[in-house]
Amino acid sequence: MSELQPLRREFASREDLIAYVTAQFPASAEIDSHASPIPGGRAAGLRALGAVDGAKYAATRNYLNGRVSRLSPYLRHGAVSLSEVRDHVVRRTPKRHESEKFVNELAWRDYWQRLYAKLGDGIWRDREPYKTGFRPADYADALPDDIMQGETSAACIDGFSRDLRETGYLHNHARMWMAAYVVHWRRVKWQAGARWFLTHLLDGDPASNNLSWQWVASTFSHKPYIFNRENLEKYTAGAYCRGCPLANNRRCPFDKTYEQLGAELFPNAPPEGR
Ligand SMILES: Cc1cc2nc3c(=O)[nH]c(=O)nc-3n(C[C@H](O)[C@H](O)[C@H](O)COP(=O)(O)OP(=O)(O)OC[C@H]3O[C@@H](n4cnc5c(N)ncnc54)[C@H](O)[C@@H]3O)c2cc1C
Repeated sequence: MSELQPLRREFASREDLIAYVTAQFPASAEIDSHASPIPGGRAAGLRALGAVDGAKYAATRNYLNGRVSRLSPYLRHGAVSLSEVRDHVVRRTPKRHESEKFVNELAWRDYWQRLYAKLGDGIWRDREPYKTGFRPADYADALPDDIMQGETSAACIDGFSRDLRETGYLHNHARMWMAAYVVHWRRVKWQAGARWFLTHLLDGDPASNNLSWQWVASTFSHKPYIFNRENLEKYTAGAYCRGCPLANNRRCPFDKTYEQLGAELFPNAPPEGR
């Protein structure tokens, strides 16, 4: 039996590294051969940490071009630790309360991890019934190809799908919109979307991912999360809607009030659950 060789750690260039990893993991490369532009390693993680501004984070985090930290891949793979990140940001933020929002978000990660430790593979099962008026059997098992390939014609959804595959990163708001689209507009089981995210995300983490999908789906929250065009336009500065064929033809599936969307998407749900 041949002995396992340790993986190489030194490369002449990034191209050399990409070629080596592709050759070592051919099955993964066949699923997705994109090399994310996000650099790996602790030095890159510390650079990202050094750029965090607690006050600006709190004011802009919901905007796609806001000052989010992009620390998740480094946290996920242990290049930086959660307590190290918290201590650094609290110390560096002149007014302590201005770091609170950021620390809150770190706490979500910690909370999901603790739940995972308790539930194990139970995070793959619906924690509660859907509050959408539908039964699990009403949802499709598989993710449709047009979503995976970014060919739905909705510029926002297709853009998020492309970013996910090409960069391995999505802003939190984009993750929420994408998950809501998959589960509520296309009526696909959240598990199918969660598996897809885990295939591509550099920070792919079963705890944060699955329990967030369940929150959007309403199997781990009191009501389904949905969004509308106004909300998406506001937090993306209209970047997707401007060139979107559906928006321009008045066929945007999100261009409604929340009341209209709730009634259309969840006709069997009690009005207070929509
Ligand atoms: C459907 C869906 C799937 C998700 N899948 C993952 C996943 O696989 N891995 C993952 O790490 N996060 C996941 N998240 C949570 C969150 O979207 C990402 O952690 C965050 O967007 C990462 O970007 P950032 O580092 O710039 O975050 P920032 O906003 O800068 O936050 C700083 C850090 O706090 C933590 N954090 C922030 N928001 C959350 C949150 N809502 N839940 C848990 N931790 C959070 C992350 O570790 C993040 O790096 C998911 C969210 C949704 C809605």
